[in-house]
Amino acid sequence: MVEFDGFGPEKIIKVYNPKLDVKGVCVIDNSALGPGKGGIRMTETVNEEEVSRLARAMTWKNALAELPFGGAKSGITVDSKKISREKKDEIVKWFSKSLKIVVPSLYVAGPDMYMAEGEMEIFAKANGDIKSCTGKPKHLGGIPHELGSTGFGVYHSTLTALKFLNKDVKKTTIAIEGFGNVGIFAFKFLSEAGARIVAVSDSKGTVYRKEGIDFNELEEVKQETGSVINYKGGKILKNHEIVNIDADILITAAIPDLIKSDDVNKMKFKLIVEGSNIPMSEETERILYKKGVLVIPDIIANAGGVISSYVEYKGGNEKEMFKLVEEKITKNVKHILELSKEEKIDTRDAALRIAKKRVLEKCKICRA
Ligand code: NAD
Repeated sequence: MVEFDGFGPEKIIKVYNPKLDVKGVCVIDNSALGPGKGGIRMTETVNEEEVSRLARAMTWKNALAELPFGGAKSGITVDSKKISREKKDEIVKWFSKSLKIVVPSLYVAGPDMYMAEGEMEIFAKANGDIKSCTGKPKHLGGIPHELGSTGFGVYHSTLTALKFLNKDVKKTTIAIEGFGNVGIFAFKFLSEAGARIVAVSDSKGTVYRKEGIDFNELEEVKQETGSVINYKGGKILKNHEIVNIDADILITAAIPDLIKSDDVNKMKFKLIVEGSNIPMSEETERILYKKGVLVIPDIIANAGGVISSYVEYKGGNEKEMFKLVEEKITKNVKHILELSKEEKIDTRDAALRIAKKRVLEKCKICRA
């Protein structure tokens, strides 16, 4: 069930194509700060409720990053691994045309799970407006998310949190949930900085190796065999077991609701950086806060992607993008950590306090 409150959602567009037998939904949560901005996710399980929660997360994320965007998100309910390339392209074209009424004045799309620069090219061409989405390939003037903006931001979130905790990145062990766009780049930058990555999961399972996992070898294994579980010399566990790994830090970079309240007592992490969106409920975050686990919320930690989208939207380049991601993420993580400490509130409450204030200042139809 979608929940409505004093901020939105303002619009929900539901579409169905009987021939393709596919449903899609676009939720524009709040447009006080600009057109709703948020990616399109293509998974077997995505539904209106998940999309509306993600759209709300985008409202806060864009406000926190001080971008001229409101919050929105889209979902197409289909398992893209089970359909042909041609069918996937046809679905993206149909979805794009279905949203012609709202792009780009009320909604600017982008990639999310199982969507990438190729799909963004199809999306932009199908509705005829190059400004209708970001994350497009370079030949269309885009800054593809495949450059690793989100993973780069997750890396800077982790570094800033470690600095706050007076910890040296070179002495930390890390588990990463997901080895897609976000997980790969978070792994790359953190291992280059000297951290030891001891576990990585994907949809098929988790690989654990106490001595550390080599980035290049893992990338090769994933490309050649389709899964991280074929990495040699590691112990293979179920994918959910990533939450029980004995490591200092967990980086989430895949599914929503990964961590349930039942998991908390078994968890050993001191820091959780939410690279994925809504990896746990706010209630679970508060339980972790009371246990002394520091959580960097998704609306701060994974804003690298939308900051990159903003640079593309205003016609900037790759170099400007990496600079802005580092600046904004470092500043914002530091800000919420300090506010949380001063006010004795958890990091989510600290972030929401700032975001709500910014939206309310501009919103004529909202109520607190
Ligand atoms: P992706 O499609 O590139 O990769 C998803 C990864 O998750 C794959 O490795 C897949 O195998 C893995 N996975 C799927 N089910 C899993 C499971 N049950 N356990 C462990 N791994 C599983 O997706 P992405 O772009 O990396 O996005 C990951 C998360 O980060 C999503 O929550 C997304 O909303 C969020 N995010 C992405 C961006 C971005 O720029 N791509 C920006 C902000 C937030």
